[in-house]
Amino acid sequence: MSLPTLINMMGQLITAPSISSSQSQWDMSNKAVIELLEDWLSHLGFKCEVIKLAGPLEKYNLVATLGEGDGGLVLSGHTDTVPFDEGRWQSDPFTLTERDQKLFGLGTCDMKGFFAIVLDAIKDMCQSPIKQPLIVLATADEESSMNGARALVESGKLKARYALIGEPTSLTPIYAHKGIMMERIRVTGKSGHSSNPNLGNNAMDAMHAVMSELMTFRQELKAQYQNADFAIDYPTLNLGCIHGGDSPNRICAGCDIDFDIRALPGMSNQALIAEIEQRLPVIAERTGTKIQLEHLFPDVPSFATSLESDIVKACEALTKKKADTVAFATEGPFLNQMGMETLVLGPGSIDQAHQPNEFLALDQINPMQDLIRSLVRRYCLEA
Ligand SMILES: [Zn+2]
Repeated sequence: MSLPTLINMMGQLITAPSISSSQSQWDMSNKAVIELLEDWLSHLGFKCEVIKLAGPLEKYNLVATLGEGDGGLVLSGHTDTVPFDEGRWQSDPFTLTERDQKLFGLGTCDMKGFFAIVLDAIKDMCQSPIKQPLIVLATADEESSMNGARALVESGKLKARYALIGEPTSLTPIYAHKGIMMERIRVTGKSGHSSNPNLGNNAMDAMHAVMSELMTFRQELKAQYQNADFAIDYPTLNLGCIHGGDSPNRICAGCDIDFDIRALPGMSNQALIAEIEQRLPVIAERTGTKIQLEHLFPDVPSFATSLESDIVKACEALTKKKADTVAFATEGPFLNQMGMETLVLGPGSIDQAHQPNEFLALDQINPMQDLIRSLVRRYCLEA
């Protein structure tokens, strides 16, 4: 058997649904995508390791390795997609459809299409003598929990010198992004008849103080940290939703506020949380309420690879574009934690990701394949 054509492989990957979501009615296994990749990569001579994640659904990472050594290159992507808007697509999201020099389908640019592009690019290189390993990494649940990447960090198994994540960046090298934390602060007071404030303890009144403190903290962060490489060049803290009370004539017994913090590279999510936790007891004491902080989602650390790293310099030269930053999060910080110098660079635009009629423009494919082959030569064949 020879490998199917690029379009055929992309079509098969798009046809295999692999939605991941924190909402259970959408969440599904990525097994079919992993099996396709395993089949094709084995055919090219890769040693394939399929690793099941903990949890009720069948979710897998695939680590496919060609060659041996401490160096080498990881070509990394996620196998899952986001859910889709029923009825807002012009064609079936699970059928690869070509029109106007574009390939439409759920996951074409974000990012199952990347695997087809990689496999087709390297298929004729796999027979060459290889000095350092070439690894194709396919992860689960990037769009929901990043549990695939987190499990890899815990296993400590994956080793290489460099990594490229093929997220849609319109072929621009991306060396950094902010982190994301989503948190909730819950204030608990005591209900009572509104005619007499002494009958209860108003959680909303205490929440006012909490919000003021968060806004003060936000100003402090903005004054303390800047990074001119980001469009929004300071860390942000957004008060996103608030729930509390039930009736104008009752003293509010409970109030929750949900917020996110997007930290710049160099800032620690844990330190930010510790700082907020340290400020809450003062308000609790002053107001006589109970104030708790909880994490809504596991945090994603900020990501930054040195601009001096060889993979950054090499990709800047190959694309003739200066390395930049993006406003979305990737698995980059987890690959960096595993000791790889990681760059995010891929075909297609983030503007089309997570949208109805997601597409990959055909003119992105050849330049991406040239770049992949250059990196494989540099880090695996000639290293
Ligand atoms: Zn993605």
